[in-house]
Amino acid sequence: MTVPGHPQPIPMSAMPRFAGLATFMRLPYVEEVDDLDIAMIGVPFDVGTTNRPGARHGPRQVRDMSTMIRRVHHVSKIAPFDLCRCADAGDVPINPIDLDVSLRSIEEFFRRVHKAGVATLAVGGDHLVTLPILRAVAAEHSVGMVHFDAHSDTTDTYFGDIGEGGTRFTHGSPFRRAVEEGLLDPKRTVQIGIRGSVHAPDDFDWAFEQGFRIITIEEFQDLGVDAVIEEAWRVAGDGPVYVSFDVDGLDPVYAPGTGTPEVGGLTTLEAQRVLRGLQGLDIVGGDVVEVSPPFDPSGNTALVGATMMFEILCVLADALAE
Ligand code: MN
Ligand code: MN
Repeated sequence: MTVPGHPQPIPMSAMPRFAGLATFMRLPYVEEVDDLDIAMIGVPFDVGTTNRPGARHGPRQVRDMSTMIRRVHHVSKIAPFDLCRCADAGDVPINPIDLDVSLRSIEEFFRRVHKAGVATLAVGGDHLVTLPILRAVAAEHSVGMVHFDAHSDTTDTYFGDIGEGGTRFTHGSPFRRAVEEGLLDPKRTVQIGIRGSVHAPDDFDWAFEQGFRIITIEEFQDLGVDAVIEEAWRVAGDGPVYVSFDVDGLDPVYAPGTGTPEVGGLTTLEAQRVLRGLQGLDIVGGDVVEVSPPFDPSGNTALVGATMMFEILCVLADALAE
């Protein structure tokens, strides 16, 4: 039933799901990634958070809740651990006092994995982690992106202008920086679920000028899941695609454990169905970010994060196996 040589989740016959050391989806933990196709990596970093922190605790609780995940997708029947050699490659070492050192550490970690020819599926951490990840993943070739979020994350600076104490590196600015650095193709980027009060009416002007396709939650509701999938294919379909999933794209009813919740969001099933609709795209990597366990002692947000991770894993494994 399983493919010889592929790492497999610990079978329930050997250890019940609630027991043993928690790794992503009960896969082996490895330090050497060379023999893998997909490395799952924790990025316990929330130094880029502008408001309520706690996402540094995301990877550990997502690992715990990911022990609920089984082997085969119930709709697509994709068995990612048979299609690809997957494992938990551990956490990036972070210096929680030093943003620059941490960003370099994340980039170096992902660069090492990428150079070994291994795709990455990351768990944050706040959304700034996607910038150093893209510096590694998109080093040779810019990528398109399917991005789930309440926020566009294209704000230029926070806490003032540059030279007045402001900063360009926060979880509200990764995709502005990624476009400036030539990592992200804005014309091949679709942002899904955008909503919430803004700082100023022109907050999205820069993103629109660059060519980002923003699907607000209101447009999502008007279009419906199938038309949103079609639009994601139209925008991002022609080339490599990165999938970035901020759990605050979901309604806080489903994912309260996050630093910047916005009501009126996606349901978990809507997000899952859009992710399934990405099967067939040239997906090159992905992440799930902004799970902040201190705001959700129930652990449900981490379960949601682990489940979205599995949805991304399935379409990523399918793309790599093509
Ligand atoms: Mn975000
Ligand atoms: Mn967000």
